Amino acid sequence: MIRERAYPVDPWHIRETRLDLDVLAQSESVFALANGHIGIRGNLDEGEPHGLPGTYLNSFYELRPLPYAEAGYGFPESGQTMVNVTNAKLMRLLVDDEPFDVRYGDLRSHERSLDLRAGTLERTVEWVSPSGQAIRVRTVRMVSFTHRAVVAFLYEVEPLDASARLILQSELVANEQLPPTSKDPRVAAVLDHPLQAEEMLEQRTGGLLVHRTKASDLRMAAAMEHLVETPGKHAVTTEGHPDWLRTTVACKLEPGQKLRVVKIAAYGWSSNRSLPAVRDQVGAALASARLDGWEGLVEAQREYLDAFWDHSDVKVEGDPEVQQAVRFGLFHTLQAGARAEQRPIGSKGLTGPGYDGHTFWDAETFVLPALTYTQPAAAADVLRWRHSTLDLARERAQTLGLQGAAFPWRTIRGQECSAYWPAGTAGFHIGADIADAVRRYVSATGDYDFEREYGLELLVETARLWRSLGHHDRHGRFHIDGVTGPDEYTAVVDDNVYTNLMAQQNMFAAADAAKRHPELARKLGVDDEESASWRDAAASVHIPYDRELAVHQQSEGFTRLQEWDFQNTPPEAYPLLLNYPYFDLYRKQVVKQADLVMAMYVRGDAFTPEEKARNFAYYDARTVRDSSLSACIQAVMAAEVGFVELAHDYLGEAALMDLHDLHQNARDGVHVASLAGSWIALVAGLGGMRDFNGQLSFAPRLPSRINALEFSLLWRGLRLRVEVTAEEVTYSLRNGGGSARLDLLHHGKEVTITQVKPVVLPIPPAPPAGPAPEQPAGRAPVRRATGV
Ligand code: BGC
Repeated sequence: MIRERAYPVDPWHIRETRLDLDVLAQSESVFALANGHIGIRGNLDEGEPHGLPGTYLNSFYELRPLPYAEAGYGFPESGQTMVNVTNAKLMRLLVDDEPFDVRYGDLRSHERSLDLRAGTLERTVEWVSPSGQAIRVRTVRMVSFTHRAVVAFLYEVEPLDASARLILQSELVANEQLPPTSKDPRVAAVLDHPLQAEEMLEQRTGGLLVHRTKASDLRMAAAMEHLVETPGKHAVTTEGHPDWLRTTVACKLEPGQKLRVVKIAAYGWSSNRSLPAVRDQVGAALASARLDGWEGLVEAQREYLDAFWDHSDVKVEGDPEVQQAVRFGLFHTLQAGARAEQRPIGSKGLTGPGYDGHTFWDAETFVLPALTYTQPAAAADVLRWRHSTLDLARERAQTLGLQGAAFPWRTIRGQECSAYWPAGTAGFHIGADIADAVRRYVSATGDYDFEREYGLELLVETARLWRSLGHHDRHGRFHIDGVTGPDEYTAVVDDNVYTNLMAQQNMFAAADAAKRHPELARKLGVDDEESASWRDAAASVHIPYDRELAVHQQSEGFTRLQEWDFQNTPPEAYPLLLNYPYFDLYRKQVVKQADLVMAMYVRGDAFTPEEKARNFAYYDARTVRDSSLSACIQAVMAAEVGFVELAHDYLGEAALMDLHDLHQNARDGVHVASLAGSWIALVAGLGGMRDFNGQLSFAPRLPSRINALEFSLLWRGLRLRVEVTAEEVTYSLRNGGGSARLDLLHHGKEVTITQVKPVVLPIPPAPPAGPAPEQPAGRAPVRRATGV
């Protein structure tokens, strides 16, 4: 586990001041760079030692069989696993014939720094070889946001005390050997030699490798090119093999002289295009990056990030650790989605092999809120990708005997890849989560073209699913039985409140959208009868409630299940799924992650304040947060029901998930939902932001240690800035011209913001909150106010 404060607190950098080989794999995830299209783990330039080598292309996967001991009808037969593609990071150095390897010789200093404003990872090393030759190495790498297909590396090396012969071998390597997978079922299946060589081209300063996957039949090309600067004589050669290509630079330097090599690599892949087409595509990407050169790439990267931070930064004063972590989280959110361009966002982004590289509801429900209000184009792209998989989702619904579209619980390409029904297809709520993301996007942007072209069909097909999955009982109540809600420790249940409320919203939204676009709706086969049946089902959705305890039941019968014995559950037994059989978890009141509490956030309009307070206390005491998707949502609801200090604690947990490796699996990739969730915890939690029924509202309130919070939101083309202190809130518009106006609610009061001048409003005193909620024994979050 990464020890606390392993990375010194710094507002804009994640710095590692010494190399700790015990946490190498975790730091590779933290230092991963990506642009949504390409991802490279923070492996050391020389490739060894490593935790997990990793280079990924969004949606480049291999198929693998899903073997079942006891198969059943409708079980998916084939899984999809993200492939570790050709590695362009490798740059091996030999100093007077001795390999530069941090495990040998004397590592005088080793520092890595992720610069969140520059979008680069820098490494500086001083090393003395076993035979006493001292060198300084400085490397900088980036995955370009502006050149989507390009990764670039700067490698500088100088001898410090005596003249030295330096050989730099820069490589492209396909089919790297990967360490064996762990016993944790969540870890990706390891694929052996997934790439078949198709073509190799070597030139003096670089070359190209083309490969193809065996079963999924995808083709990829990787190309590299080097620009070498060094005083005096040097030699550059390249040699190739079907699975690797090596450019060697040889020179002799005196102390004070430097070898400087810029390596530019380009990637491309396709399921359709011919070999020459893919080859030419990477050639073009290289040519375009070469035109900019290293300095140009660095400058463009910074400009891109300047614009991003200008729109998206969240300032948190008083808790510098959270400030750093939140920016780190936003950076990874951007890296996961920025240039995904109609491809999915995986739950680990492109930072590691965890969960096989699959996308889940994490994308629509946790990542898209942050992107919708800061980078709406990226949010729309993810939904366009979902739309492109509609045929597969319709097919799946048909297989299941249902109408409309059944979106996969987890996938890369669109087919269901979950081999475990109770925590897979039974998570039907994914359909409503997608519909909610559509609704949110259209509400926040007013992009009705998107609604016409993509949104309407997504809403209609998901509504159809609900209508056929649920049924009216003899009293007319609409039930959705046999589903799994967000809490995967309570599976295949009836009337999960989250699912039912989300399905309700989904069906109303589909009927409303069909009314807005009658022609298009007719083309999709929607008639008045069908819309009316959605409204009817939505209006009569059953919401189970325990009158005696005066709390909602997470699902029918939940509150009468046996209580989990938290007192006698040792800390090392968490996560419970790795230490207890599912059947035991399923029949007790133990909640993996926010479920009813999640419903109270996303469907806050369906609960009274009193219900929210009582439900929160009840479920917080039973929620163990074995999923990283929980803390951010608990932060939001803790703040809403008046426990702003607890909200701060949960916010800290969400934001520090990977920097502190809180779930001890950061090695497999960062937890993108939790990182993006820290934005939710701040903006929806401490800022109290909601957008129910097209009405933007805020109810900011700060915990004792945070003295100021500042964030910006894009709302229908207007940029709203919200600055919060302990006493007051300042709302201002940053664009839109003289006539622009934005109506919002501030702690329930209507306010109009114009560009003329900022509006400053006091924060009303907090109503009395009652006794503080308790968490299961040993599961309370770290207290941020006191730092314990
Ligand atoms: C959670 C799911 C989540 C998945 C991927 C699981 O542990 O229970 O809600 O979608 O991880 O992050």
